[in-house]
Amino acid sequence: MRRSAPDPSVAAGAAGSGGDDPAECPYCGSTDTEREHPKGPGLCRSMHFCDDCGEPFERFG
Ligand SMILES: [Zn+2]
Repeated sequence: MRRSAPDPSVAAGAAGSGGDDPAECPYCGSTDTEREHPKGPGLCRSMHFCDDCGEPFERFG
């Protein structure tokens, strides 16, 4: 006996973002931001820099 049913789980295989989406600037709302290396004690805190308004800001998560 032979089964040749198509696998429906293959259809939803879009390679999404690599989990490194840009943070949104809290000052101007732009996503044209750069991530800087964390230098604080908090591991879940990261520093970002907005290219639009030139303001550095912190981001959690
Ligand atoms: Zn900004």
